[in-house]
Amino acid sequence: TQSLFSRVEMAPRDPILGLNEQFAADPNPNKVNLGIGVYTDADGKLPLLACVKAAEAQLMQAPKPRGYLPIDGIAAYDKAVQGLVFGANHEAVTSGRIATVQGLGGTGGLKVGADFLKRINPDARVLISDPSWENHRALFEAAGFSVGTYPYYDAAQQGVNFDAMLAALNAASAGTIVVLHACCHNPTGYDISPAQWNQVIATLKARDLVPFLDMAYQGFGEGIAEDGAVIQQFLAAGLDFFVATSFSKSFSLYGERVGALSVVCATKDEAGRVLSQIKRVIRSNYSNPPTHGAQIVATVLSSPELRAQWEQELAGMRERIRAMRSTLVEKLAAAGVKGDLSYITRQKGMFSYSGLSAAQMERLRTEFGVYGVSTGRICVAAINLHNVDYVAKSIAAVMQ
Ligand code: PLP
Repeated sequence: TQSLFSRVEMAPRDPILGLNEQFAADPNPNKVNLGIGVYTDADGKLPLLACVKAAEAQLMQAPKPRGYLPIDGIAAYDKAVQGLVFGANHEAVTSGRIATVQGLGGTGGLKVGADFLKRINPDARVLISDPSWENHRALFEAAGFSVGTYPYYDAAQQGVNFDAMLAALNAASAGTIVVLHACCHNPTGYDISPAQWNQVIATLKARDLVPFLDMAYQGFGEGIAEDGAVIQQFLAAGLDFFVATSFSKSFSLYGERVGALSVVCATKDEAGRVLSQIKRVIRSNYSNPPTHGAQIVATVLSSPELRAQWEQELAGMRERIRAMRSTLVEKLAAAGVKGDLSYITRQKGMFSYSGLSAAQMERLRTEFGVYGVSTGRICVAAINLHNVDYVAKSIAAVMQ
């Protein structure tokens, strides 16, 4: 007799998490992991932010029993998320027309939003950027949608093919769900300008499309407010839209799975009904969220001192990445790489789309132990003064 599992096929390795496994097994003493999107500090260590430590110390002073949270999470957390993402005094927040739920990281927010959309708009198509974070396609397909792309990256221009992007949105049928990176586009690092956002917003509105903003890197581009300005543009346009928030990177709380989903509705009454449906989605997925990470973030965001400390620490991460972009450009030039490398400093957030081919990325891995994604994406947030020379020389070598 055949066992239930005898015909189960081996799934392909996750392209990024799979790289991590390969990296861990590599005996090369010089190896550098530029694959996964994780920020490490000047010494290559994953930081534990001081504001997080302080919040935990505060929470430990009056330890609480761990009952179930409400399905939508800690109320103070959801409120803090709304304040951060939309502005505490914005009419959309004060009038109660935004439904916000605590999520399991940004991924959880995206997944709950996708499942909810499938219930209310089952025949919609989803468009993601070409390229996008790999999980966008997988998540929306897993929710039952057919997923297509809109043009985004322009290799020749080292930027965004904005005209093609806009044309694709203009050609989309009403109700199409459009996944947009609010800032620090992953994987390319190229964002569109505020003026271009206005054009996108006008198109989304005119074509009756459903915007789903993914905000996983607020504060890693220009600053918390600057990166959040796009949300204000959407609010000003009077659109209904979705926002998935992740605090994995901005609080260095990857493993705590802290995120949220917010749905901006036209009225408080609508938001109440939307929230009730989202809670059903959550209930049948994982019932209710975990306590610890969201408690930390709520504590930090609602204390003026800790919040100021967080803003400073986040600025420190942002500035270090920027400094590494400049250093990488200098070192590449010194290693003999010709041509204009300024695109590296123009890119925003944790990643650089290097333009290297899959074969070159493979050589980087096997000959030098420098692990980036086959698409050419490297994580600048994992470069530091100890490894930048080696990284630059290795890249220069595979470019010869
Ligand atoms: N969205 C984008 C664009 C990301 O890059 C990531 C993380 O890599 C996420 C969402 C998910 O973040 P989280 O780890 O909080 O689920």
